[in-house]
Amino acid sequence: MIITKETNIFEKVSKEEVHKKLVEIFGKENVSNRSVDLYPYSYDMTECPPSMPDFVVIPENKEQLVELVKFCNQNVIPIVPYISGNNVGGLTIPERGGIIVDFGKKMNKILHINENMMYALLEPGVTFGQLKKHLDDNYPQLRYSYPFAPPYASVVGNAILSGMNNLSCKIGSMGDSINGLEVITVDGEIARIGSCFYGKDEADPDSWWCRYPMPDLMGLFINWQGMTGLITKCAVQLWPKKPIQKIEALAIFDLEDIGELCREMGRTEVVDDIAFGSTELIKMCCEIPEPKIFPEESRMMATSVITAHTENEYKAKKEIYLNTIEKFREEGMRIYPMDFGEFVELFNLRLRCYADLPSMVLSLVEYSGLTWFGSYAPSHKIEELAKKVDEIFKKYNVPLFLNMKPMKYSHYCIFRPIIRFNKFKDEERIHKLLNEIVDTCVDFGCIPYKTPAWMTEKMREKINPGWLKLFEKIKKCMDPNGIFNPGRWNT
Ligand SMILES: Cc1cc2nc3c(=O)[nH]c(=O)nc-3n(C[C@H](O)[C@H](O)[C@H](O)COP(=O)(O)OP(=O)(O)OC[C@H]3O[C@@H](n4cnc5c(N)ncnc54)[C@H](O)[C@@H]3O)c2cc1C
Repeated sequence: MIITKETNIFEKVSKEEVHKKLVEIFGKENVSNRSVDLYPYSYDMTECPPSMPDFVVIPENKEQLVELVKFCNQNVIPIVPYISGNNVGGLTIPERGGIIVDFGKKMNKILHINENMMYALLEPGVTFGQLKKHLDDNYPQLRYSYPFAPPYASVVGNAILSGMNNLSCKIGSMGDSINGLEVITVDGEIARIGSCFYGKDEADPDSWWCRYPMPDLMGLFINWQGMTGLITKCAVQLWPKKPIQKIEALAIFDLEDIGELCREMGRTEVVDDIAFGSTELIKMCCEIPEPKIFPEESRMMATSVITAHTENEYKAKKEIYLNTIEKFREEGMRIYPMDFGEFVELFNLRLRCYADLPSMVLSLVEYSGLTWFGSYAPSHKIEELAKKVDEIFKKYNVPLFLNMKPMKYSHYCIFRPIIRFNKFKDEERIHKLLNEIVDTCVDFGCIPYKTPAWMTEKMREKINPGWLKLFEKIKKCMDPNGIFNPGRWNT
């Protein structure tokens, strides 16, 4: 049975009184304390230990949330914001129990699309699938940037965790794409951050177009994993959807070449995105069970997306792309361009879905467990990192699932070793493997995102003490009673 950590959170007010208050705020049908309803919120696919919440509530509006926050702050009851729990970091597991606030069920409206300034104003529960359909149906000239996450994961959850999506080679972190936020702080105040800050009670829906040049308060909420307040609205940037979009594939035979290749392909500025995947990862995407690599096989594959307004623009971009590859080939790199369409027809037609995200990588979630060391990484160290991580995977006899991409045209990159595992058989071994990866990668300067508490504990040993003190001061100031998602970042 899953139990909650040994802290009594009902010291100031009894559990029965809390229940009564929640029903008063949200209505009986939107509150539950039944184990059967609470259980799905107690775990995720990672190795992070499960823990039961005491209640789940389904909010419909911000007024209810203001009341909830005031009540919880007064009585020191934990609040864990939740949208779809697909963060792959244990971030919505209620470590100390308390109240899960599930935004996914009813606070999931697309509030406004501004075509001119290209942004969408969203409630937290809007999913990638929902936004894509809405844009395709109503604004076919606009698009968002989508991850490999399932279509039912949330746009806002991904943005506030600095996700990296399929325009990231061009635009960088999704955190940078946030134009504005509406948040409820611990005292129950509603604050609007960004160019939407004019206006006393409500903002003009057309005013969410930028976050500068006032002091950037957005940083108080991005990457804080729900530890500083509740977000009730978020404006994210959209991008022009060009009529031509084609995928290029590249086979790479030597692991030591991927660093230079990754950096240089990003710098060409002709690809919207380029994702590098180890051959084992590609085979997994082709739904080959227990993928292995054989001697003399290529080690990696890169898929690049090139978009253009006209055929001439496409041809010019493709020429630059191919010239870059040719230059490396002349220098002796064993890399070979492939026709993505032919590759898909040969191996698995479902791969076409990954050319049109969001989509579900079914084989990635077919085991009971999924975890990773998803990190922002210094791109000049990629080749060394890949070599070390490959050795660790070999030591544990686990297939190397490695995913990488240059960000913002190669200013930095993503380095993400991924592990599927059987939770009830393999958890201990996989946790050991992941521990070794964390130690190695953090030593190289990688900064993991969506970090579970056991990982931030390790990072704390290496982080500048001044940063840590400032971080603690801000957390204390934003949440003096520690009610917002307690336990994250070891708070
Ligand atoms: C198979 C798979 C593949 C993935 N691939 C990628 C990928 O390619 N790139 C990528 O970037 N990500 C990827 N992800 C992760 C995923 O995109 C994001 O982490 C996800 O979109 C977060 O949304 P969510 O609905 O799961 O949020 P949740 O997990 O429910 O919440 C995310 C965090 O935000 C907090 N939070 C939620 N709502 C609020 C609120 N209203 N106010 C304040 N805080 C709040 C939560 O407490 C939590 O800390 C993948 C996930 C899976 C399962």
